[in-house]
Amino acid sequence: PRKIFSGIQPTGSVHLGNYLGAVRKWTQLQNSRDDVTVCIVDMHSITMPHNPPVLRENIFTMAATLVACGIDPAKSTLFVQSAVLEHCEFNWILSSMTTTPRLAQLPQFKEKSRLVRDIPLGLYVYPVLQAADIMLYKATHVPVGADQLQHIQLAQHLARTFNGRYGEAFPVCHAIIEEGDASRVLSLRDPSKKMSKSEANPKATINLCDPPELIMEKIKKAVTDFTSDITYDPNLRPGVSNLVNIHAQVTGRSIRSVLEEAKTLDTAKYKERVGDAVIEHLRPIRERIHEQLSKKNELIHMLEIGAEKARIQAQKTMRDVKQRLGLGAYA
Ligand code: ATP
Ligand code: MG
Repeated sequence: PRKIFSGIQPTGSVHLGNYLGAVRKWTQLQNSRDDVTVCIVDMHSITMPHNPPVLRENIFTMAATLVACGIDPAKSTLFVQSAVLEHCEFNWILSSMTTTPRLAQLPQFKEKSRLVRDIPLGLYVYPVLQAADIMLYKATHVPVGADQLQHIQLAQHLARTFNGRYGEAFPVCHAIIEEGDASRVLSLRDPSKKMSKSEANPKATINLCDPPELIMEKIKKAVTDFTSDITYDPNLRPGVSNLVNIHAQVTGRSIRSVLEEAKTLDTAKYKERVGDAVIEHLRPIRERIHEQLSKKNELIHMLEIGAEKARIQAQKTMRDVKQRLGLGAYA
């Protein structure tokens, strides 16, 4: 079986983009008997300004949401990054195997560094820590949204560099990116940007735990354009096309079949149709999130068991890494 690794930041609640572009894929892979590791990457989420009580709360909500989406702790390894110290240790080691110009040109760094006045070093090193996450578990496949492609390429470069200097120790991972536009769901307020957890305007994202009325309100207010018929043209009409894409993704239908249904509708009527489809799709997930959140002690226990499983692999990898680099004083 393939070794799958994926991470998600507890910077907010899981939104439709995370779900369609990544989380849904993780559950499919888990059920196809691949070895799946899912990490709630809290060390990544402190690279931008954050609020400690909110972060702690978000970690629980994230764990509850992932289970509600179908991540089964009996089949997959689900844990919180900061519980496994080796991520940070390996991050340090890998940080000497790449260069500062290479990190400076990565799109996520360019976008997020614009949002703060003084750029944290952590934001800069973020993709190195991400490579450490992947390589610690010797992952062969990493399912991500399209926005993470450049980071996966950096992880590939680090694996090759490591193998070149210290001998074949790591597989060069492959990115698994969903076909079509599931891999890039756009912001409802600004369709030139992707939907993001850390987006300041709550109207821009549909969260999996949003109540039905709120979902409908957000979709009705989604920014589209001044043409009232429904067509699919992601370049010229990104706003409307994003809704068509979402509609197709949540109903499991093709873009063509969704457009056929929309032929007689104007934008306002069509938005209601999309809203209904999203609400129906998310209803059972939302119910399961609340059920999970009411059992916080079980969540804590589940995450501790996940961390124990992860630690065994991470420690094994680090023993080998230190041996290869000549670190430490061992006989
Ligand atoms: P943040 O704004 O804090 O970076 P995010 O929404 O980008 O949050 P991440 O935790 O960075 O979420 O990413 C988790 C996974 O979701 C990654 O695989 C990422 O590629 C994917 N993803 C994020 N946004 C989208 C989107 N709009 N469409 C499809 N996939 C997405
Ligand atoms: Mg992100």
